[in-house]
Amino acid sequence: MRFDIVTLFPEMLRPFFAQGILLGAQEKGLIEIHLHDLRAFAPDPRGIVDDRPFGGGAGMVMRPEPFARAVEALAQEIRTKPFVVLLSAQGVLFTQAWAKRFARERALVLLCGRYEGVDERVLSFCDLELSIGDYVLAGGELAAAIVVEATARMVPGVVGRYDSVATDSFFSGPRLGFPQYTRPRLFRGLPVPDVLLSGDHARIRRFREKEAWKKTLRHRPDLLGLRLPPAGEP
Ligand code: SAM
Repeated sequence: MRFDIVTLFPEMLRPFFAQGILLGAQEKGLIEIHLHDLRAFAPDPRGIVDDRPFGGGAGMVMRPEPFARAVEALAQEIRTKPFVVLLSAQGVLFTQAWAKRFARERALVLLCGRYEGVDERVLSFCDLELSIGDYVLAGGELAAAIVVEATARMVPGVVGRYDSVATDSFFSGPRLGFPQYTRPRLFRGLPVPDVLLSGDHARIRRFREKEAWKKTLRHRPDLLGLRLPPAGEP
């Protein structure tokens, strides 16, 4: 699978993709990640990509032409119509289901905004406006990195053991993963639950299942369709 990220700050992301599981996946040829400087697609020779908002207001808005030119150039280079996503706090919420969906695409293009955001007409050549959560970042770069990493984990072969993905939070529905323990058996007076040391795999499975549901109820009652307050409010 191929990822293309269009951003004003490609160098911000380069080191992130050059380590860990994403580096391994690139080395194995399972994914490709390409970073593109939006300024290279500015129609203006000075590389200007933003302007003042029509209607007034603070800050600058990113013009639509550089994004359009970037998407057109990429579609030509990739020789297929990529799935194009605009990262935006106003988008639909990114979930594991979207990660699985994106992993079925051959090519995903991620457009990163900055400043006050991008001209709304950019959406005319996007397939989706996508938010990574209910908060506002300074730019779409971290959001793009999150989308790439979560999606790449869904590409077959990227995570070595399938069961490590299949027991993850959200993988098989609206439920969090189970709590994990490792050595030492006793940490500052806190023991590892006996059942995990029992070697009884049926009991361990039941324990983990119960703990996963308990945690989901405590932290994410919304996932269970409940209108309870989650544990802890800001
Ligand atoms: N004025 C915009 C609004 O009210 O939604 C916020 C613009 S934000 C400062 C600049 C850029 O950061 C956005 O264009 C988008 O690309 C990115 N961004 C900010 N929050 C995001 C989020 N929650 N998910 C995805 N991208 C986000």
